[in-house]
Amino acid sequence: MTDVAAPVDCTASILAVGSELLGTTRLDTNSLFLAGELLTMGVRVVRKACVGDDAGDLGAELRVALGRAPLLVASGGLGPTADDRTKEVLAALLGRPLVRDEAILSRLRERFRRRGIEMPKVNEKQADVIEGAVVLANPRGSAPGFLVEAAGKTVVLLPGVPDELKAMWVEDAGPRLARVYGTTGYHRRTLKVGGLPESVVEERVEPVYAAHPDCPITILAAGGEVQLQFAVRGTPEEAGAALDRIERDFRKALGSDVFGRNDETLEGVVGDLLRARGLTLALAESCTGGLLAGRLTDVAGSSDYFLGSAVTYANAAKADLVGVSEETLERFGAVSEETAREMAFGARKRFGASVGVAVTGIAGPGGGSPEKPAGTVHLALDAADGTRGHRKLLMPGGRALVRRWTTSAALVMIRHYLMGRTEGGRK
Ligand code: AMP
Ligand code: MG
Repeated sequence: MTDVAAPVDCTASILAVGSELLGTTRLDTNSLFLAGELLTMGVRVVRKACVGDDAGDLGAELRVALGRAPLLVASGGLGPTADDRTKEVLAALLGRPLVRDEAILSRLRERFRRRGIEMPKVNEKQADVIEGAVVLANPRGSAPGFLVEAAGKTVVLLPGVPDELKAMWVEDAGPRLARVYGTTGYHRRTLKVGGLPESVVEERVEPVYAAHPDCPITILAAGGEVQLQFAVRGTPEEAGAALDRIERDFRKALGSDVFGRNDETLEGVVGDLLRARGLTLALAESCTGGLLAGRLTDVAGSSDYFLGSAVTYANAAKADLVGVSEETLERFGAVSEETAREMAFGARKRFGASVGVAVTGIAGPGGGSPEKPAGTVHLALDAADGTRGHRKLLMPGGRALVRRWTTSAALVMIRHYLMGRTEGGRK
């Protein structure tokens, strides 16, 4: 049995439902994920929209989206509260009744029982199914999703919570649609480069662009790294082989400055290297206030190699917690190579780590001077094997960017040390 009728043309609309998406604080990120997944199936997105929770607006928008393409993927509004009404509005539009599904109801009750709570009555409506719809499993949450076919159209309803949407897509909705649409669309790959400015990366990879004129390649800088994104159309196998060839050319041009691909992160790659070398890491952070520790501990299992960070914001903390000398602070100032080096040494000693890394700088916007403008940051590394590293950064941009870039530069510095590429010399 197929769940979806063969498509007449390979186009789709995406609809994001939720009044918060029309306000000032929330962005529709689900559609970015969905557009990528649909592209892999060779399905072109011809329309995407956000709509609030009002039933009238939602109905009007569903009608328009269904008029534009044979496939509509909608997210949001499947929850238990009164403003979650995507399913109800679609049912009314299709003239189909909602039928309570006892199997879903008992799964929902069980889910609550496991958390030691009796299911609130409002959740019962999550067990209502549009007559004839396929129920999509939600491995991460309570709201099931639905796949409905009516009048030659296919509608997929997914939960709004991005994690739940992705899990439902990967495990259920995606494979069902792939059985109909295939997977000979665009397959994408991202290579990530650390420690080089975008213009330098661009210069080095120009010959790669020329060697692959038919491949769309995008270069973009984000958060202290540079990404190269490219896509190839074909079966997963054909496209995979072509992507491998392009990746090889990029790696030839950029060498070990390529630190990862796709979902790999700088903090994850650094963590893997530390684990592989059997080394531990400790930090002393001033202007990043613990952000570097935050990134490192975003990685599950980081306790294998990450010992801790001293957030030494005040001068007294730099002296008390990681032993920076009063004389150094007085002579060179808190934002200086000398202080950074003593912080790195002190962090290593204090935590008993193999590698100590320190960050001290002026995140701005205030606090700068002609000699040390806002955006001046000193990074230092001090390793038990005698390696000492230092880098001075001078960054434009606001406080948030300076702090983010600093964490990336520090991670690149640690990576370089672990690959035997430390700059800043031994002392
Ligand atoms: P919902 O249950 O559909 O009301 O959504 C629950 C949560 O998911 C809220 O925090 C929403 O802001 C978030 N959310 C809903 N739709 C989207 C979307 N298109 N992109 C990103 N987050 C979303
Ligand atoms: Mg909502």
